[in-house]
Amino acid sequence: MEVTAALLEKYSKAGPRYTSYPTAPYFAETFGEKEWREEILQTQDSGRDLSLYVHIPFCDTLCYYCGCNMVATRNYARATDYLGYLEREIDLVAGLISPRRAVRQFHWGGGTPTYLRPDDIRRLFAHIKGRFPIAADAEVGCEVDPRELTRDHVKALADAGFNRLSLGVQDLDDKVQQAVNRIQPESLVRQVYGWMREDGFPSINMDLMVGLPHQTVAGFSATLDKIIDMAPDRLAVFNYAHVPWLKKHQKLIHETDLPDFSTRVALQLMILERLIGAGYVYIGMDHFARPNDELVKAQRNKTLYRNFQGYTTHKDCDIYAFGVTAISQTEEVYVQNQKDLADYRARVSEGRLATERGLRITRDDRLRREAIAHIMCDLELDKKVFAQKWEIEFDAYFAEALPELAEMAKDGLVELEADRIRVTEIGRIFLRNIAMSFDAYLKQASSEKPRYSRTV
Ligand code: SF4
Repeated sequence: MEVTAALLEKYSKAGPRYTSYPTAPYFAETFGEKEWREEILQTQDSGRDLSLYVHIPFCDTLCYYCGCNMVATRNYARATDYLGYLEREIDLVAGLISPRRAVRQFHWGGGTPTYLRPDDIRRLFAHIKGRFPIAADAEVGCEVDPRELTRDHVKALADAGFNRLSLGVQDLDDKVQQAVNRIQPESLVRQVYGWMREDGFPSINMDLMVGLPHQTVAGFSATLDKIIDMAPDRLAVFNYAHVPWLKKHQKLIHETDLPDFSTRVALQLMILERLIGAGYVYIGMDHFARPNDELVKAQRNKTLYRNFQGYTTHKDCDIYAFGVTAISQTEEVYVQNQKDLADYRARVSEGRLATERGLRITRDDRLRREAIAHIMCDLELDKKVFAQKWEIEFDAYFAEALPELAEMAKDGLVELEADRIRVTEIGRIFLRNIAMSFDAYLKQASSEKPRYSRTV
């Protein structure tokens, strides 16, 4: 079977990206600071290691397509001020966490973490290292914006101990860059990428984006020529989610400049062909990696997992996240910090946790989350093993998912065996759709359902 335009059109629906289940819109203020503190204290002997996340919300300028939680400012004093609060929050949470628990994964995201000046990167990293034992083989990653980046930034990231960098590129075409207000010529990207290689970072990812204004198959193919030539270890090619009802600044993008559906389909097909042809393995959910990459190995060994930072090789970690809007997670709880910077600062200055809302998930949520993770990470679900673990009769429990799965089997997205659901090569493109059949929240009749971006 082939990926056809008709198939892409049929499955182009609004749906979650499942970095959590249930998704963040279902977190509620009824689960707040008090409940989160109790949860932290009660789970210190869980035997689970740690994954830390730090959110730096600042950016120099606003990219019109941005879907992140960010603050555009050129006033660096705001970042200096924020760092003070961040360090206080880190101290507060670190005081509740057992020092025996090692950090296996550590990620800085934003906004733009490299908005911070090199010495502030060093200072913040040292502060965290002084409070949490970071394992020698931890995966330590940072998102990097090549614009305004200096040689010393890259050096500071290396000195601090980062071993994975993710470079935001999106598209190298001038016209596209101008339309989204993100100007970074190829020469700049090559220079920054060269610095990263010079400093010996073992893993470099590049983020690209499709569905941006003025993109064409020929134009994006030219971008891919240059990217393939640079040869990053991993690539993420995200679909632009045009959600101006959620992100008001996206109204600055003229809808008439966006590629039409058939162009988007042609782009998707071309990207798959080009990157697979260049030797990358398609993991799923827009992610590609070299065949010897840890993500590919983890997928083969069924140890890959998905969390708020995307795909990860660290399945059994509790996530403690610091900074405005940051989301933390234990086995049964999700919590999000205050989304408003002033509220975040007020909480921390009172010596309180910055929790705004959260959720203790049910057994049904846990079970469905695991089914979704099997689909998105392992590309298969062993029904027998799953049913034994959760003490359910699989087909009866997921009766409402079966007709949708049967339809997808007819379309070649999955193979349905007596004891197994297997995602096909084509199905990797439609992982969100397959996962959606296990999502109980999407099936609820509610006028207040969250609105998601399109799956394809
Ligand atoms: S740099 Fe990233 S976070 Fe900042 S505006 Fe651009 S897309 Fe958004």
